[in-house]
Amino acid sequence: MIIKMSGAATEEEIDHVVTRVKECGCQPHISRGVEHIIIGAVGSPDKRNELEALRAAPAVEDVIPITHPFKLVSRQYKLGRSIVKVGPVSIGNGEVVVIAGPCSVESRAQLLMTAHAVRDAGANMLRGGAYKPRTSPYDFQGLGVEALQFLKTAREETGLPVVTEVMSTEDVEIVAEYADMLQVGARNMQNFSLLRRLARSERPILLKRGPSATIKEWLLAAEYLLAGGNPNVVLCERGIKTFETETRNTLDLAAVALAKELSHLPVIVDPSHATGRRSLVPGVSRAAIAVGADGLMIEVHPEPERALSDGPQSLDLEGFAQLMSHLEEPAPRLARTNAVPA
Ligand code: PEP
Ligand code: MN
Repeated sequence: MIIKMSGAATEEEIDHVVTRVKECGCQPHISRGVEHIIIGAVGSPDKRNELEALRAAPAVEDVIPITHPFKLVSRQYKLGRSIVKVGPVSIGNGEVVVIAGPCSVESRAQLLMTAHAVRDAGANMLRGGAYKPRTSPYDFQGLGVEALQFLKTAREETGLPVVTEVMSTEDVEIVAEYADMLQVGARNMQNFSLLRRLARSERPILLKRGPSATIKEWLLAAEYLLAGGNPNVVLCERGIKTFETETRNTLDLAAVALAKELSHLPVIVDPSHATGRRSLVPGVSRAAIAVGADGLMIEVHPEPERALSDGPQSLDLEGFAQLMSHLEEPAPRLARTNAVPA
């Protein structure tokens, strides 16, 4: 339920509504705008009728049921869009943020070389996996804490804030000590104990969509983070499983546009995991921007053919610089031959 109050409501009037929301068995979440104050009443109310009766309370303009199962992430709940700050970078303010770096942190030299190159090419943030979710237990699993230390050095040298994946609750503390943003990998999207733990973290979260998750399930995973107290969440579409096998996954661009219609959270796109093919990354990146993505996350490696993970989808340093220089290219390609009557 959303209680919409006038922007001119006094603190006393707001407190009254907050108290009533609690008495009705819900948690109040306040969003303050200039014209309106929104109080989200989240939970299953014991006293629904009494909550609805708040229509008659002073300064209350309306009481509106939220029709979606996700509440705090919904557009209805928040006035305007969320902007998530990661160090000096803002995600969701209308500008496209580019996050780039290797799939896995493999060595100090590999990471630093990549970090400097992507920074010089215009990237805003650095990525790199320290703990890797691999399909096979025999594949490279990541360098762990050593990789976190390299990421810290890379941030110190380049100024780029760092995002890296955290796979389990026991690693949250150490990863949060080194990284500016914590990534929840696609395969962990519904790891509810991890989500609950991350909800209590001070760090912003990059929440990847599960390979088989519906948009609703993805937004409900984000709801765990917001309901648990962490409002700094960025959604990332990285392709879903379909019958197609020629691409690694199938990029759901409509989901990007729809997630932005349904939620106030920023949405970025990972064209590397979505396609699995380096040749497709530049075009798909422009398409993601065209549907309204707030950012891109792109895998880059100095020598993709030697990469310990995801080489075929990684751009080399030159390829990434090329992509950056063409990202804003317009496409004035509409056929105009039918414009003149005979
Ligand atoms: C990654 O970003 O390196 C990764 C493992 O991605 P995903 O969880 O989307 O597969
Ligand atoms: Mn990868």
